[in-house]
Amino acid sequence: MNASADNPVRHVARTVQGMPTSDGAGVRMLRVIGQPQLQNLDPFLMLDAFGSETPGDYIAGFPDHPHRGFETVTYMLAGRMRHQDNKGNAGDLGPGSVQWMTAGRGIVHSEMPLQESGRMAGFQLWVNLPAADKMCAPRYQDIPAHDVPVVADSGGATVRVLAGRVDSATGPVRAVATDPTYLDVLLPAGSRFTHAIPAGHTAFAYVFEGEVGFGEPATPIGKNRLAVLAAGTRVLASAGAAPGRFILVAGRPLNEPIVQYGPFVMNTHDEIRQAISDFQAGRF
Ligand code: MN
Repeated sequence: MNASADNPVRHVARTVQGMPTSDGAGVRMLRVIGQPQLQNLDPFLMLDAFGSETPGDYIAGFPDHPHRGFETVTYMLAGRMRHQDNKGNAGDLGPGSVQWMTAGRGIVHSEMPLQESGRMAGFQLWVNLPAADKMCAPRYQDIPAHDVPVVADSGGATVRVLAGRVDSATGPVRAVATDPTYLDVLLPAGSRFTHAIPAGHTAFAYVFEGEVGFGEPATPIGKNRLAVLAAGTRVLASAGAAPGRFILVAGRPLNEPIVQYGPFVMNTHDEIRQAISDFQAGRF
C-alpha cells in the first residue's frame, strides 16, 4: 500500500467532498479545492466543479472581475461560455475545449454563458505561478476540442490529454511553469488505467461519474469526491462493475509562501496591497 521503492503506486492519502457554493453573480457549483477541508494543494489553489441543466444555476455567469499572480484553467464538458477581457481579447469555450489563462500581472475579464437553456458542465482549476512569473504578461491558450488528443489506452480507458503525455499523445497546453498533467479519463466497467507521474509532483483525481478505485489494493472513490494521491511514481485507477470517469491532475509544487486575497494570489502582504491599489487605479 505504501509508495516504497518496490511499490511505487500512489495510494489515496486523503479524500475531500466537493462543497456546494455559489460564486460570480450567483453560479452554483461544488468547490473542491479552496474550501475549509482543503485550502490548497500546492501548486493548485482552487478547483470548482460545475454541472447543471437548470439555467438558474449558471445563467448569471461571472461578470467583470480581476485576477493577478496565477493561472485559471477552464475545461468544458458541456455547454458554451464566452470570455472577454479589458484588452479586447475574447473567445468562446465549447464542449471539450480548454482555456489555460495565465493572468500574470493582471487581467479583468468576464466569463458568461452563451446559452439560456440546456446543460452546462465543467471545471475551473486555479494553478499558482512561481514568484518569478507572477508579474509576467497575461497569456491565453484557447484550445478547441478537436485539438485535444483522445487516446484509446491499452487497458480500455479513453483518455483526453489536455496537458502532459499519454502513450504517443502530448496535450496541447504549452510552457506552463508547474509542468502540469491534466487528463480526463473514462474507464469502462472492469478496466484499468496506469499513468506515470514524476515522483515529486502533487497529484489528485476528482471523480465526476460513477466510482473509481485508486492504488493497489484499490481505495474506492465515489462521485464528486477528490482523492489526494500520495507520493509515488505512478497512478493506478480501476473501475468495478460500472464505468467511472475522473480528471487526473498533477504539477510541480512551488513551495513558496501563498498570500491570497480573493482573485489576487501573491507571495507577500505588500504585493497584495500593491495588487489592490493597481486594480483600483485601473493599472490591470
Ligand atoms: Mn475569472
